[in-house]
Amino acid sequence: MTSTSSLSQVKLHGIAAAPGQVVAPAWRWAESRVHASGTDLTGETGINRLQIAIRDVKAALAKKATGLEASGAAAEAGILQAQALMLDDPALLDGASSLIRKGRPADAAVAETMAPFAEMLRASDDEVFKARAADLEDVVEQLRRALHGVSDMPPPPATPSIVVARDLAPSQTAGLDRTLVVGFATEQGTATAHTAILARALGLPAVVGIAGLVDAVADGQSVLLDGDRGTLVIDPSPGSVAHVAGPKPLVTDAAPAVTKDGRRIDVGCNAANLEDAQRAAAAGADGIGLLRSEFLFLGSDRLPTEEEQVAMLEQVMAAMAPRPVILRTLDVGADKPLPALPQPAEANPALGVRGLRLQLLRRPELLMDQLRAALRIAAGYPLRLMFPMVSTVDEVRQVKLLLEKARRELNASPRMEVGIMVEVPAAAVTADVLAKEVDFFSLGTNDLTQYLFAADRTNPDLASLGDSLHPALLRVIDQVVRAAHSEGRWVGVCGEMASDLGAVPLLIGLGVDELSVHPPLVARIKASVRGLEAAECARVATAALQLDSGTAVRRLVDHSVSKT
Ligand code: PEP
Ligand code: MG
Repeated sequence: MTSTSSLSQVKLHGIAAAPGQVVAPAWRWAESRVHASGTDLTGETGINRLQIAIRDVKAALAKKATGLEASGAAAEAGILQAQALMLDDPALLDGASSLIRKGRPADAAVAETMAPFAEMLRASDDEVFKARAADLEDVVEQLRRALHGVSDMPPPPATPSIVVARDLAPSQTAGLDRTLVVGFATEQGTATAHTAILARALGLPAVVGIAGLVDAVADGQSVLLDGDRGTLVIDPSPGSVAHVAGPKPLVTDAAPAVTKDGRRIDVGCNAANLEDAQRAAAAGADGIGLLRSEFLFLGSDRLPTEEEQVAMLEQVMAAMAPRPVILRTLDVGADKPLPALPQPAEANPALGVRGLRLQLLRRPELLMDQLRAALRIAAGYPLRLMFPMVSTVDEVRQVKLLLEKARRELNASPRMEVGIMVEVPAAAVTADVLAKEVDFFSLGTNDLTQYLFAADRTNPDLASLGDSLHPALLRVIDQVVRAAHSEGRWVGVCGEMASDLGAVPLLIGLGVDELSVHPPLVARIKASVRGLEAAECARVATAALQLDSGTAVRRLVDHSVSKT
């Protein structure tokens, strides 16, 4: 949606993904944006650089292909191996070198040498040959990047800017240079997609799901990004700029959150890295309710060893000590690809080989590394371990056997609570069975909502369908909490729902024991808990279960719960 609020300023509307307001020039993210790097690519130097670039691209392709093969993706590995063979073709180096000697820079010489081959392939009637044309052009692009020394990330903007993109992958978001990127806006995405979650964790204001964004904004144009309201104003008036609030200081509240009638609710934080853990500690969080280990591994093209994981975890534990930390094992796949763990394309990635499935089915040795690292840390710190994307009790039993194996290997037996994310409807429905196998549950309401409503959490068109206040989800939570409590297990919520002040009374009313929220929200959520009466929340939650929409539930909460 677009609206014009003064003669020149245009306001675009999207989904508020991470709070904060900021004004800065727009910087359009272009995947293929390769600035001339100033590198000399002419004459003999150009030929030398081309030889090095060919060698480097070949090595990178071989490495990726090996990773794919190891994960059972032989067909995809074959494509990369074929690309590596293209680089071996003497026609490439000979043809490009002769053009370079005639004065063409190496990148242009490569493109010109390979263009006729790509053309020939494209003209073929055979679909397989046609597809090879794109592979060949991809090789040319990789060489161009290698020649200019740039990676998959475009070079950062020269001055602090607001990134404007069609979409950003979580790894790209994590890789943003925080000194030069002060916020971002995207056409794709929703508030519960990982890119948005990461933005909140990074404290980076963000608006996602803005239709027509990239075509509406020019590079360098002044924009006002409002991550609270979910808007982006192009060419904001001096009046609106004057109202932009500065960054809010982190409020600390380390006292326990107890309802008026004496129920203690633990308020922990979600964390993706050491900085989040430090902010959680500074905010007075009662622990880390979800340490998304996959984010610890982003930004590297290889997976950390057991030793490296121990070192990373030790830093996080030390930052939070003596408070507990729930380490979630790798949750890779769907909208959280990990560069170091490339996976073959799938028709339905959110329903595919992701989370615990990926490790059990394809990479048990990675899981073993994580299990050993966790056990070693649990010997000295209150570490709890949690598995993502559990669907069946069989998966839990398998992973517990692996945990026992890791204990034997280490000859270690530290007490370590083991829990699972409840985020797949099958797990929620069989919570009574699962509760017998684990120490705790954490409700992953982001995925649970997505799967319950069959509404892709990254699709902005479906944002209103995946409403976590809908009675359908509340009924599922009710069932899970009852099942857990009857086995004496505790239940947390680590999805975004825990950070929603409107949802907190309902979660308390349904009997949830722990909330894991973003560090800047700890004080507000604790204050809200203290203003509530658990018995009243229970009455409201019971009534909410009988309503027919999320809107009706929201209205009920607004009218019937006395909040501070
Ligand atoms: C969830 O699904 O609610 C959750 C916390 O996990 P993630 O957002 O990392 O998928
Ligand atoms: Mg999840």
